[in-house]
Amino acid sequence: MVSLRKYNNIDILLLKHIHMATNDIRKEYTNGELTVVWKPGKCIHAGICVKTLPDVYDPSAKPWITPENATTENLKQQITQCPSGALSYYMNADKG
Ligand code: SF4
Repeated sequence: MVSLRKYNNIDILLLKHIHMATNDIRKEYTNGELTVVWKPGKCIHAGICVKTLPDVYDPSAKPWITPENATTENLKQQITQCPSGALSYYMNADKG
């Protein structure tokens, strides 16, 4: 007989993590010069992006990343601070 158990909050967090770790989603947001690449499956929700550039990263907005609200140099500096590698970027001029 299959026994059903209730999930507690930790189980739900683990399930979310497993789900996110296995997805391969890649999203891109550009300011015309630089494109921010975000891979939600890698994000550990440390919030460093939101704390560093709150005008760019707003989890309650859609889209949640608006790179037009920062300079390309500030975006580069901030993206290198992402601890998980969820954020990366490329220069639009380099994409051929
Ligand atoms: S800094 Fe990186 S890991 Fe942290 S919330 Fe932003 S995207 Fe996710």
